Amino acid sequence: MPPVHLADLDLAGRRAIVAETGEQAFRAAQLSTHYFGRLERDPAAMTDIPAASRERLAGHLMPKLLTPVRELECDDGATRKSLWRLHDGALVESVLMGYPDRVTVCISSQAGCGMACPFCATGQAGLTRNLSTAEIVDQVVYLAGVAASGVMEGVPRRLSHVVFMGMGEPLANYSRVIAALRRLTSPAPEGLGLSQRHITVSTVGLVPAMKKLADEDLSVTLALSLHAPDDELRDELVPVNQRWKVAEVLDAAWAYSAKTGRRISIEYAMIRDVNDQPWRADLLGRLLAGRLAHVNLIPLNPTPGSRWDASPKPVEREFVRRLREAGVPTTVRDTRGREIDGACGQLAASEGEA
Ligand code: SAH
Repeated sequence: MPPVHLADLDLAGRRAIVAETGEQAFRAAQLSTHYFGRLERDPAAMTDIPAASRERLAGHLMPKLLTPVRELECDDGATRKSLWRLHDGALVESVLMGYPDRVTVCISSQAGCGMACPFCATGQAGLTRNLSTAEIVDQVVYLAGVAASGVMEGVPRRLSHVVFMGMGEPLANYSRVIAALRRLTSPAPEGLGLSQRHITVSTVGLVPAMKKLADEDLSVTLALSLHAPDDELRDELVPVNQRWKVAEVLDAAWAYSAKTGRRISIEYAMIRDVNDQPWRADLLGRLLAGRLAHVNLIPLNPTPGSRWDASPKPVEREFVRRLREAGVPTTVRDTRGREIDGACGQLAASEGEA
């Protein structure tokens, strides 16, 4: 784990550390206002704090967590991918996406991923480590600062949406992700003050963690990466299905929507001749009809060396038609950032909801 950063702690925790350094307690809120309120990540720019105090405080509460390695853009600058190096050399990615009415950031919760989904680029390399709470939050604060600088034309300057659809399985890094959700949604100066409803946590379907999440009093949107309506195929596409079956994972999703009132987003990558048959659309429609759910179809973004490809458009259209006929709201996700590998699919915005 990296050194402690103020975003790892709530305000009381920050005050305790400030006190240990011998500085006055109000400096905790002052630092927090710079970081969460003004999106200022550079202690040197906090000139309302005397230089000596600044250095001491920064040393204890604002270590540098993310070093940009590469920043790529496409879609006329409305999609920007950042590759970061962490203090121990691990690499993670985030993507900033500007739309006329919103700005979304797609962030990573782990370096690598242990879920081993065969169509996902991150899944192939395995898990390196969990990210700390502050490493998760700092991706958002950094990119909120980029959005605020006005570099994206025709796009609001205020970051409004966060999706946990970058690298990693957020519910496998449970406590740190929960703390990150609290930092992102607490009002400034404690946190970033985003709306809970504008945050989407995407999971392969870790049932016990889904149940726990329902009890956290956080009305975040839950996205479930289903990708197949039947156990035989889902066992292969999402190997964790061998542990928690389709029926069980959907039950946990319905329990979440019952508890929070939030619509579940069912993620379904369209893979040619693998999961895109009309009968699978019909089966999916039967599983979801009458539920508080919508389907987000993701055209597969083929990963290098993969034997799989995206479904042809007519097949995709028929799949959508059948789901809608079954009464299930269905959208096809846009494919932002393909040219910059910003979308391994996992790095695409969840459309439609929120
Ligand atoms: N581990 C979490 C979150 C990260 S992936 C999860 O699995 O939900 C975010 C989404 O992108 C998931 O639905 C994932 O299945 C999907 N995805 C991964 N690789 C993809 C690819 N090559 N093409 C399309 N979607 C992909």
